[in-house]
Amino acid sequence: MRPATRSIVDHVSRLYVFQQVGQHPLLIAEGLALNGIYADWWQQLWLIGSVVAVLGGFSITLMFYLLAAVKRRAAAEDQLARLARTDALTSLANRRHLDDTLDIEWRRGMRVKAPVSLLMIDVDHFKAYNDTYGHQAGDAVLATVGRCIATSAKRVSDLGARYGGEEFSVLLPSVGKTGALEVAEQLRAMLATARESQPELPTVSIGLASLVPGDERTSRDLIRAADLALYDAKREGRDRVVVSPVGWDKASKRRVA
Ligand code: GH3
Ligand code: MG
Ligand code: MG
Repeated sequence: MRPATRSIVDHVSRLYVFQQVGQHPLLIAEGLALNGIYADWWQQLWLIGSVVAVLGGFSITLMFYLLAAVKRRAAAEDQLARLARTDALTSLANRRHLDDTLDIEWRRGMRVKAPVSLLMIDVDHFKAYNDTYGHQAGDAVLATVGRCIATSAKRVSDLGARYGGEEFSVLLPSVGKTGALEVAEQLRAMLATARESQPELPTVSIGLASLVPGDERTSRDLIRAADLALYDAKREGRDRVVVSPVGWDKASKRRVA
C-alpha cells in the first residue's frame, strides 16, 4: 500500500493498493478516491459535531438561565428580608429589627465598654389628631415623623425604628448622653420647622436613656429607663426631652459604670 497520491489520469487524490496476481508478472492496482474513503467519516463527524454543538449551546443557554434565576431569587430574598425588617408606613426599621440590632449593639458595647443610647419618642395627643383630621392625615403625620427621624439618625450605626402605633425609637450605639440629647433636640427642631408650614402637626415627647452595657444590666433596662423618661416627659407637659437618671450618679453627676 502506498500513501495517497494524486492520480495522473483524473487528478483525483487516491489511496493505492497493489497486489501481484499469483506468480504471473501481473499487478493489480486499486486506487480508492480519498473523498470516497472519508465520505462516511465526514458525515459522522458533521453529525456528531452538530449534536455536540447543539448540546453545548443548550447547556450554555441553560447555565445563563439558571444563573439569572439564581440572581432573581437572591434579589427576591433580599427584598423579602428588607420588607421583613421595615415598617411599611414610615420606611423605618420595625420593632423586630430594633430588638435584634439592640441585642447586637448591647453585646458590642459590653465588649468595647462603649455607651448605648436610646430615644423613645411618642407623638403627643395623637388620638385627638386622628379624631380631628382623620386616620389618613394621622398616617401622613407618622410618615413625616419617620422622615425627620431618618434625617436626624444619620450615622450608619444609628437606627430609627417604629416601635409601634405612634411610638418611635432611635438606637444610638457608641453615643453618650450629650450626643443623644443633640439628636433628640434636632428631631424636635426639625418637626418645629415643619410645623411652620403645617401648624396642626403634633409635637413629640422624648425619653432618653444612655447606659454602658455591663453584666448587671440588660438591654431591657435601657428600654425601661427610656420608657420611664418618656412618661416623665408626658407628665411634665409633653413637647420635651427628658433624660433618664439611670446609669448616672445624681449626686456627683458622674456616670456609674
Ligand atoms: P399622648 O400624648 O399621651 O401620647 O396621647 P395620645 O393620644 O397620643 O395617646 P393614645 O395612646 O391615647 O392614642 C394613640 C393613638 O394613636 C390612638 C391610635 O388610634 C393612634 N394610632 C396608632 N397607630 C396608628 C397608625 O398607624 N395610624 C394612625 N393614623 N393612628 C394610629
Ligand atoms: Mg403612645
Ligand atoms: Mg401619643
